[in-house]
Amino acid sequence: MNIFEKIVAGELPCNKVHENENFLAFHDINPKAPIHVIAIPKRCYKSFHEVDEEIMVGMTKFIKEVAKKLGLDENGYRLITNIGYDGGQEVPHLHFHILGGTRLRWIDLRENEDEAKRSL
Ligand code: AMP
Repeated sequence: MNIFEKIVAGELPCNKVHENENFLAFHDINPKAPIHVIAIPKRCYKSFHEVDEEIMVGMTKFIKEVAKKLGLDENGYRLITNIGYDGGQEVPHLHFHILGGTRLRWIDLRENEDEAKRSL
């Protein structure tokens, strides 16, 4: 079982924000912004690339509910899902990072600085 499956099963604790039958949202353990919440489907899909499209209807509604509950709907927020190795995904269970609570930077995301310089 991956970390998020253990959270869903109640084997690991989480700081819960919102939940329904199919989805769960909790605060990220290592926040990258004043507000950093993870939203997941309870059923494990490896990533966005593997998820059934129909699940995304409920997922989208749930994410909007979470953003509203966090008071992010007025000023905005960032929604990120990392996919696979190049995407920087660490936990192999589809999840959306909901980030906000301040104006967020938008930076060059390449890990390899030489590659970033070459493209200038
Ligand atoms: P990713 O790199 O997109 O796979 O993101 C995984 C995220 O899960 C990271 O931001 C971690 O800080 C977060 N994370 C890992 N373990 C936990 C946990 N037990 N509770 C809350 N967030 C976690």
